[in-house]
Amino acid sequence: MTELTANTAPSTADPLASTAQSGAANYPGLDAWRDLPISQQPTWSNTEVFKASVKELSVVPPLVFAGEVDVLRERLAAAAQGKAFLLQGGDCAETFEAATADKISARVKTILQMAVVLTYGAAMPVIKMGRMAGQFAKPRSSNDETRDGVTLPAYRGDIVNGYDFTPESRAHDAGRMLKAYHTSASTLNLIRAFTQGGFADLRLVHQWNKGFTENPAHARYESLARDIDRAISFMDSCGADFEALKRVEFFASHEALLLDYERALTRIDSRTGLPYDTSAHFLWIGERTRELDHAHVDFLSRVRNPIGVKLGPTTSGDDALRLIDKLDPNREPGRLTFITRMGAGNIREKLPAVVERVTSSGAQVLWVTDPMHGNTVTSPNGYKTRNFDDVIDEVRGFFEVHQALGTVPGGLHVEMTGDDVAECLGGADPIDQDAFLDRYESVCDPRLNHMQSLEMAFLVAGALSR
Ligand code: PEP
Ligand code: MN
Repeated sequence: MTELTANTAPSTADPLASTAQSGAANYPGLDAWRDLPISQQPTWSNTEVFKASVKELSVVPPLVFAGEVDVLRERLAAAAQGKAFLLQGGDCAETFEAATADKISARVKTILQMAVVLTYGAAMPVIKMGRMAGQFAKPRSSNDETRDGVTLPAYRGDIVNGYDFTPESRAHDAGRMLKAYHTSASTLNLIRAFTQGGFADLRLVHQWNKGFTENPAHARYESLARDIDRAISFMDSCGADFEALKRVEFFASHEALLLDYERALTRIDSRTGLPYDTSAHFLWIGERTRELDHAHVDFLSRVRNPIGVKLGPTTSGDDALRLIDKLDPNREPGRLTFITRMGAGNIREKLPAVVERVTSSGAQVLWVTDPMHGNTVTSPNGYKTRNFDDVIDEVRGFFEVHQALGTVPGGLHVEMTGDDVAECLGGADPIDQDAFLDRYESVCDPRLNHMQSLEMAFLVAGALSR
């Protein structure tokens, strides 16, 4: 195999040298990451396929537009001030196979349903964002996976290799970057159609939520649903323009892990002359790739998109400040989001020091909770799972910490699906581990199913309205 980008070592060859003639080819600094240590990157099996894929990706149409990215930055700035709330949700890892109309619409529908409940609970606009239309690259704790004595490269997400446990499927195929682009494009096309074409009608979305509260297990959420019902009737009586409420903004986001792909989709905005990563509106840096002087932080410091960084329980206040200096040196409203994922048992103890340090420096970031990644456990029957109660407890801890400090708990980042899967334990209509045998579908981390996602929205709405 030809090694193009070695794990955790500076890349030597510049495979883009002959192909980076279009788009943002000569923009200063955009390729500085190539000389820095980089982790979690593939070892592409075929150099020619790699070069051809990058060449094509650097001329294809952008998936998102710079003007939309700027709008999102303004929305996130409002959230950082407590004037909006971010709801970011979707699969841990999207797959090409699951990019079907049914599954995409179920996920969008669930996010819209959650958003209506949260809008009411928070009494403020909810920014709707999918971990969708590009969430194809996964960091892994080990480079390899062994099954029955056979060792093969780990699955790194559909943009790199296949989930099937065969040498062919697990080889790192750069041609998959093109498939990821096209799958993102068709996913985003459907999202845009749904959210602009009448599917997002507030009254319709509220009707769907009634299905949830009609389940006797969810009786305790009925009164909140009734309150929303009355609010909608009131709006109707006042002559609210429900036609306008048929369209909603919906943004796309993913972890910017595979820098070959992110770099190739970066374009210079014709209005401002500045670089935008047009693979998504919002990009985040994972907990495993947020080293200050490494490639991911460097690359994302140079694009105009709003950026997120995941912060785990080992994050110090100084780490957070250094990330702010590097990623948001101008302290631009909406530019930087910290997505904390400390674990339910850690958040009340660890988060305050980080938030206090940032606040006392005068910087304003958007604080979002990811209550999933610090709460992963293995079920007795061997599945990677999360307890619904732990997830909710981390969300509560997040609100408690911010309320105690007088800072803004600005959003929620969840791994969820619109389907009736069984991957996380618990919920009012509880999932037990036996259900995993038939309904565990995730190729990576466990997701809240449709009902668990709505239940979370009702619980968070309850907390927000207090
Ligand atoms: C993820 O969001 O799927 C992920 C890997 O998260 P983290 O970087 O927080 O571990
Ligand atoms: Mn995950």
